[in-house]
Amino acid sequence: MFYNKGMDALDRLKWLSSQMTLEPDGEPGPFDVSDGALACSRSEARRHGLIIYPAAMPNGRRIHLLKTLLSSACERDCRYCPFRAGRDFRRASFTPEEFARLFLRLYESGAAEGLFISSALAGGGIRTQDQLIETAEILRFKLGFKGYLHLKIMPGAEKAQVERAMQLADRVSINLEAPSAMRLSRLAPRKTFFNELLTRLRWVDEIRQSQPPQRGWNGRWPSSTTQFVAGGADESDLELLQASEFLYRQLNLKRVYYMGFRPIPDTPLENHPPTPPLRQLRLYQASFLLRDYGFGLEELPFEAGGNLPVGQDPKQAWAERNLSEQPIEINRAEWSQLLRVPGIGPRAAGAILQARRIHVLRDLSSLKKLGIVAERAAPYILLDGRRAPVQPALF
Ligand code: SF4
Repeated sequence: MFYNKGMDALDRLKWLSSQMTLEPDGEPGPFDVSDGALACSRSEARRHGLIIYPAAMPNGRRIHLLKTLLSSACERDCRYCPFRAGRDFRRASFTPEEFARLFLRLYESGAAEGLFISSALAGGGIRTQDQLIETAEILRFKLGFKGYLHLKIMPGAEKAQVERAMQLADRVSINLEAPSAMRLSRLAPRKTFFNELLTRLRWVDEIRQSQPPQRGWNGRWPSSTTQFVAGGADESDLELLQASEFLYRQLNLKRVYYMGFRPIPDTPLENHPPTPPLRQLRLYQASFLLRDYGFGLEELPFEAGGNLPVGQDPKQAWAERNLSEQPIEINRAEWSQLLRVPGIGPRAAGAILQARRIHVLRDLSSLKKLGIVAERAAPYILLDGRRAPVQPALF
């Protein structure tokens, strides 16, 4: 194992940020199918040899985000992770001051507009969290950084640290990795699901509910997210989505990510099969149905083993069972009913409500003008009392 050997600060940053495609502790890498994110390079970033990720902000704006670790030296031995202790792997590390100054140079040069920073664990969760908080404090207060900051909460961090991180960041996250204590023990036997992980997400929500948002660095509390390693613990989609529903409804998470498991050589799970990208896509689709479309878990089309059918979009599967014989009248349906129709999302449902105040919607072309994927909706709707014409599928 090499540690910072022969690497200057920029080399270390390149090395650490390149590892985020394998990333155990953060948002998905460039393969994230859920929001079409693909790693891109800005000219400044390319000049420095850095990978920069497009990231969607809460207001819909996309920014260029540098994703990195403060350190890849880890004392834990999670069974799937490239950074696990004892694995022969080049490690690199920054001090908070060193990292903050380097990042600010990149920010000022236009290479990156925001930062996502995590760390492997060294010296315990509390010490590692201190390092991340110190980095954020230097950026915000010493160097005047006003850009987007996603700060990771470490397993075992103290409540006061969680609160401090929330005062500095635009988003905080802690990865549950698995949907239950039993499943987590298969991935990370030395992590405790409730004590080290879930409790921190609970604290984030408690702090948001009980303290004024003015305590946040820009007058707002940060949003919170988590990530599961989908397929790594042989868990079912039902288990993952049950946990997701709880996190959305009870702890007000903004988003749940599903990183498809990929075996890493020289780890105990190196022979475990990778998760097919299509499973990951179905999980995201179902997760959005729970979060944004008013679906309940019991309405999702799980198969006998608790997985979603990979061959079909879950919303389409629900509509085939429920709307084929009882189509929805577009001119009278409520918002919540419109959202049940394939091809109609929240924005399109709003556009329908607006448009039908002015005129009756009678054909698919008028739906297309409202941004609706009319061919997908057609089998499940009535337009002014009539079935919409359905194009037979060629394949
Ligand atoms: S704590 Fe576990 S998942 Fe996180 S970096 Fe260390 S070995 Fe990897």
